[in-house]
Amino acid sequence: MTEAQVATRHPKDDLLRVARLPHIWCPGCGLGNVLRSVAEAIGGSRIPVERHVCVSGIGCTGRSAGYLNIDSYHTTHGRPIPFATGLKLANPALEVTVISGDGDLTTIGGNHLIHAARRNIDINVVLVNNFNYGMTGGQFGATTPHGARTTTSGYGNFEYPFNLPLLVAAAGAPFVSRWTTLHVRQLRRAIEDAFEFDGFTFIEVISPCPPGFGKKNGYADALSEMNHFMEQAVVDNEADLWELDLSMRADEPLIVGDFRRGKRPSYGEARSEILSKSGVTR
Ligand code: SF4
Repeated sequence: MTEAQVATRHPKDDLLRVARLPHIWCPGCGLGNVLRSVAEAIGGSRIPVERHVCVSGIGCTGRSAGYLNIDSYHTTHGRPIPFATGLKLANPALEVTVISGDGDLTTIGGNHLIHAARRNIDINVVLVNNFNYGMTGGQFGATTPHGARTTTSGYGNFEYPFNLPLLVAAAGAPFVSRWTTLHVRQLRRAIEDAFEFDGFTFIEVISPCPPGFGKKNGYADALSEMNHFMEQAVVDNEADLWELDLSMRADEPLIVGDFRRGKRPSYGEARSEILSKSGVTR
């Protein structure tokens, strides 16, 4: 009689700091899917694990840096992009990936996002958008859809949110994608593409937050927002960037895709070219 095999290790254990688990994320949060996609992309990357670095800011998504078993940094609120920029400039051989939330990267730290895109710094930004400040109580921010209810917009948000793919593309980002946490294969592949890309890459990941955004906007449990993704997501790689505003209403499409794969000199290339003319090699 054959003995039952009992697995004591998960296939991704090498890429996770298992001593820090269980994680703090709520049931139904999409951040586990994002972390899994990043870990799988790192595991499948041609770039050695030792050269991968992860930087996060503050918030629920900011915990990602602590759970990945690579060199990682949990930085101050809104500052992962300048921190990542410094790492890349100090050691261009590193593959530097920022994983952080919409509040951290677009509201507190929005200025850094647009300048990294403008400069075409060779870093990767995985921005998890759950439309609110989840960790601090579900307040509205710069990505909360117009009309959506949060703890600080009880009658509906009267501000209009950023259209993030349009924003970063207008600032100069040559690589722009958007997926949801339902699109795990596409997300993993987009992250792998980002690792191979020379220049600034931006991937927006739409993610459920049941106790924050969800419960006030008709997505109270773990599955209801994922069902919305399944029913309303439209893959359109050629989408007009001006048409990518998100309402999260049940009757409106959620357009996802690989919107831009352009080519322009990265910050490192442009800098080397100019400096070489004056005889400076580094
Ligand atoms: S508050 Fe929202 S974003 Fe934060 S862990 Fe819970 S579900 Fe995830």
